[in-house]
Amino acid sequence: MARRNFDIKGIAKERIMELFKEAEKQFDKHSERSKQYVKISLRLAAKSGIRMPKEIRRSYCRNCKSYLVSGKNSKIRTRKGKLVVSCLVCGSHRRMILKPKV
Ligand SMILES: [Zn+2]
Repeated sequence: MARRNFDIKGIAKERIMELFKEAEKQFDKHSERSKQYVKISLRLAAKSGIRMPKEIRRSYCRNCKSYLVSGKNSKIRTRKGKLVVSCLVCGSHRRMILKPKV
């Protein structure tokens, strides 16, 4: 029946995914605006106490909050099972461990 508790975390995650979709759409014409979307979703995540969904964790720069598009303002390399994401906006690098697919 009707859910008693609002699934705040689920709702926040949905909103974040939407914001990132919008950021992607705006990226070509308004990269500043897409950065705003990233900032809004980060604030949303902090407020609702969730972590950024892992699908989008590599789509933004943690340092300068830019929305990252591989080949445009970011470079993605794999090295020894690790993923290295470089932000070409501020020059920061992030390493992520690639989990083997089950
Ligand atoms: Zn950056």
